Amino acid sequence: MKDHIHTIPVLDALRDPGHCPFCKMHRQLDKDAVDFIMGPAYMDEDIRDKTNEAGFCADHLRKIYAVQNRLGTALLIHTHLKHIQKNLEVSDTFAISGGFFKKNDSTGKRLANNIEVFQKRCYICEKVDGTFKRYLDTFFYMWPREKEMIPLVESLPGFCLLHYGMMLEHAEKSLNKKHLENFLSVVVSLQQKAMEKLEGDMDWFIQKFDYRNTDAPWKDSKDALIRSMAMLKGIVVE
Ligand SMILES: [Zn+2]
Ligand SMILES: [Zn+2]
Repeated sequence: MKDHIHTIPVLDALRDPGHCPFCKMHRQLDKDAVDFIMGPAYMDEDIRDKTNEAGFCADHLRKIYAVQNRLGTALLIHTHLKHIQKNLEVSDTFAISGGFFKKNDSTGKRLANNIEVFQKRCYICEKVDGTFKRYLDTFFYMWPREKEMIPLVESLPGFCLLHYGMMLEHAEKSLNKKHLENFLSVVVSLQQKAMEKLEGDMDWFIQKFDYRNTDAPWKDSKDALIRSMAMLKGIVVE
């Protein structure tokens, strides 16, 4: 498995016991991307062109701000603001001669469309998603070729719903019939068992609130609420 560039991070995440391996890969990419931009890639002109254009989503703006590099954050935001301003400009002549936007004028719509595009984009999300897709490709490249894959996947406690769905969709496109059947038989039964177990643990977690169960053992349910949030939405509670 030395011929694929992303084999190592994929294997590392699969070998690390605990929660969804794709969440782990995604979190690491996310952290690396924030470190990279503040590292200080924001001084690089080519990268800055890209951040000016795409900007950042609310989550990544918060993460950049949290790095505590006020000058770096200010530089990134300032030139991005300038870019937005340029794209939302309305000429003076238009504003004066028209009184303001005339009815049926497309200017308001054009501005609204531009704003919508800005709202949807994020330099870091796009960077992370690009590499994450290649990790998924690597996973399915390895599936029929690497003997270690099945035992590694079978030792996992399941996947979060988002990545479970992504895997199923990707599997259909990436694997031939034989390997797809094999993949589904392993992954679907694994996930079903994981979800049944989680539901049972949640049930016991709730029953533990009954005073009659105060002294009963927790079994595996102590962290069932946290594991449920991780499975449903990939949330990690520290
Ligand atoms: Zn996940
Ligand atoms: Zn983002």
